[in-house]
Amino acid sequence: NPRAVREIATMTEQRKPRVVADTPLADTVLELMDNRVELLPWDVALEGCDDPVDGLYTYGHLEVDGSVMDRLSGLKVISNFGVGVDHINVQDARDRGIPVGNTPNVLNGATADMALTLMLASGRRLVEGDCYARSAEFTYYDPGYMLGREIHSETVGIVGMGRIGLEVARRCAAFNMNILYYNRRERTDLPPELNATYTSFDDLLTESDYVVLVCPLTDETRGLIGAEQLSKMKQTAILINIARGGVVDTDALTNALKNCEIYHAGLDVTEPEPLPRGHELLSLSNVTIAPHLGSATEQTRFKMAELSVENLMLGLAGEPLRTTV
Ligand code: NAP
Repeated sequence: NPRAVREIATMTEQRKPRVVADTPLADTVLELMDNRVELLPWDVALEGCDDPVDGLYTYGHLEVDGSVMDRLSGLKVISNFGVGVDHINVQDARDRGIPVGNTPNVLNGATADMALTLMLASGRRLVEGDCYARSAEFTYYDPGYMLGREIHSETVGIVGMGRIGLEVARRCAAFNMNILYYNRRERTDLPPELNATYTSFDDLLTESDYVVLVCPLTDETRGLIGAEQLSKMKQTAILINIARGGVVDTDALTNALKNCEIYHAGLDVTEPEPLPRGHELLSLSNVTIAPHLGSATEQTRFKMAELSVENLMLGLAGEPLRTTV
């Protein structure tokens, strides 16, 4: 019956796009999606389904590789809530012609703020001090206790002078810090007032009082900071990781902190994440750990939600995404 065929075709055309997501999604994300898509659970990505799936929305950091993509026939777009896409095999997506959206720039300020938060908290022993101030042991003020390390006028070495790295540098300049950085390529577009010096990785390690990691996690950067690199750092140096846990060898860092080879580590991210309860690193007082809060402000998370949903909707409509990897 040609009429029935036409009706079914129209119904099919009008069906909402089907999107697999790792739920539960934030209310903001759901509101922005505004019932324009049919959400399917992550099980579909793992097990596949007979019907076509139009989009994949990654909210957390679940792994997405070619096998996931191949299970979702008709996949038109992958949209990630976040700028880092180390959990998505971007090459597999490229091979299949599937655009991958992410959320660069909107989170630069918040993530750079977190780098400074960890630098200040680590150098000035804020978390240790907070515990002490609340404890029964704090009975009198002693000018000799809990001496920390200065931040202002010290040398910071930024590994990954990209979008976020530049915002970290701007903040460090306001603290009158001497700025070194290391990328694979020297940047020629940095604001001259930062006075940022491009160095080798080794020089950055040996000369910095604060080593701040802000590079993506890739095959090249996995384990970039291991025992050898930690041994090159000053004994008074502080390591800050706001990149990804895998950029640092956790065992090597634990040993270095235990043996006071470096002064302190301020970590927004760890490998694994979270660390197993009872992990030795959690028992050390010379480490400050945040549960991956880099971009976690109400304002920034809203902007990330807007951009990631916009990318999703554009991809579903077959349009170019606003921001792709
Ligand atoms: P970006 O603009 O692409 O900057 C990355 C920088 O890293 C670039 O300057 C790049 O320079 C450098 N880089 C890449 N590979 C390198 C290598 N092998 N060795 C040394 N430097 C290398 O990225 P972004 O937007 O600033 O974000 C950076 C990363 O921060 C993300 O990938 C994400 O993992 C992380 N992040 C974490 C949080 C959090 O919540 N903690 C929040 C946002 C982002 P070259 O290409 O010249 O090497």
